Amino acid sequence: MDKKHAKKIKRDKKKRQEKKLAHEQQQRLKRQMNMFDHLPDSCSACKADFPKTREAHMAWRVTVRHDQELVRLFCPDCQAAADQLVERRDEPQPKAD
Ligand SMILES: [Zn+2]
Repeated sequence: MDKKHAKKIKRDKKKRQEKKLAHEQQQRLKRQMNMFDHLPDSCSACKADFPKTREAHMAWRVTVRHDQELVRLFCPDCQAAADQLVERRDEPQPKAD
């Protein structure tokens, strides 16, 4: 096997790896797109209807759990409630009574 041939094999191997990587990325993207197809049409917490507007897309929060392929949607109200819960957990409030 001459040097030129070795180089070609190396190049082919690299090309194959790149192709494989591109394929995997495409598959991942496809899966993600599929998940967005399964986007709920209402809030996962309070069941409020998700208005399919640009504003709503900006304001509502989508959470994706890749391990369970679970897509959840939260309206701005529920996001605020969830954020408050987190804040309360982070900073224990002194007892009121
Ligand atoms: Zn909600």
